[in-house]
Amino acid sequence: MRILVTGGAGFIGSHLIDRLMVQGHEVVCLDNFYTGHKRNILKWLDNPYFELIRHDITEPIRLEVDQIYHLACPASPVHYQYNPVKTIKTNVMGTLNMLGLAKRVKARFLLASTSEVYGDPDVHPQPEEYRGNVNCIGIRSCYDEGKRVAETLAFDYYRQNNVDIRVARIFNTYGPRMLENDGRVVSNFVVQALRGIPLTIYGDGSQTRSFCYVSDLVEGLMRLMNNEYIGPVNIGNPGEYTILELAKTIQTMVNPDAELVYKPLPQDDPKQRQPDITRAKTWLGWEPTIPLQEGLKLTIEDFRDRIESKEVQKLS
Ligand code: NAD
Ligand code: UDP
Ligand code: UDP
Repeated sequence: MRILVTGGAGFIGSHLIDRLMVQGHEVVCLDNFYTGHKRNILKWLDNPYFELIRHDITEPIRLEVDQIYHLACPASPVHYQYNPVKTIKTNVMGTLNMLGLAKRVKARFLLASTSEVYGDPDVHPQPEEYRGNVNCIGIRSCYDEGKRVAETLAFDYYRQNNVDIRVARIFNTYGPRMLENDGRVVSNFVVQALRGIPLTIYGDGSQTRSFCYVSDLVEGLMRLMNNEYIGPVNIGNPGEYTILELAKTIQTMVNPDAELVYKPLPQDDPKQRQPDITRAKTWLGWEPTIPLQEGLKLTIEDFRDRIESKEVQKLS
């Protein structure tokens, strides 16, 4: 099959491409390198079944493909809030273009949506039926509302134009290849602990998140794409931790001497988040397999290698 991955040079996209290439597909990666990087897909650049196109999805593009994994969109609050209007354009105009493409070539289209569609949830854990508690004028709205419109567009293209859609609601995912300056909590804590600087806890650290290792997440996305259910389906790890617990775990694993410092809690930061994965289990036979400690170990090793090789480069 010929498969398009938008945002394929990013964190999740590049892990997905690794799996698709190994399965023997032809892969087209579309990315504007805003938060993605060529090094994430370096090993495929000379492969005749792989094509990299530098392109911004807010502009139309004509391609011939069988499936589209639509992941292009900055995912870290730091990056999506840097240029919020661009984030909305990517989610709305970009998703519209990719759905127009899917319609023209009759490709199956999977949207990488997010647990952020539930906002600061007052139902816990969050099932897909829950309609959420989103602030439409806050600093997270460009992303949350952008993704909500992206879901609406997907369902309207399905109803109006018979586009074969799949909608995944991805919960916090972590793993190797996250940017050192990504700004999300796992990469921040790991990089801080490795550099021996204080781990920055926002608020009192009592807010919760549920962390899914990237290989589990990619398996869930592929199962959804190749199954008959359109979704939306929550894909995430139900293991729930406070941010303070996460900080202490990483502190213990990397550097027990690293300090913890407390910083102000950003506006609209969700207080709790945990996926109800009943649909993923019953529809897709999917559930995560990598426990937090194991996933963190692999993530820490990757950051350690990258940081150490930079130190060596500086010295030479
Ligand atoms: P990421 O920032 O590493 O990857 C996003 C990729 O999209 C990058 O390579 C970036 O350069 C590219 N991109 C951004 N805007 C673009 C544009 N206008 N045109 C072309 N390319 C563009 O993020 P990620 O963690 O890999 O997330 C991938 C997808 O999964 C995103 O859609 C995100 O919203 C969704 N998601 C991720 C998480 C998570 O925890 N990682 C959680 C929920 C949803
Ligand atoms: N589009 C695209 N590639 C294609 C087909 C469509 O980028 O192969 C874009 C198209 O330019 C438009 C959007 O997708 O901006 C929606 O396309 P659709 O055909 O649904 O709507 P229309 O073009 O009729 O407005
Ligand atoms: N967070 C933190 N320190 C950091 C980065 C994030 O305490 O250095 C907190 C943040 O306030 C939030 C949680 O960790 O409560 C998860 O943040 P992240 O940006 O990773 O993802 P999201 O808020 O989008 O779930």
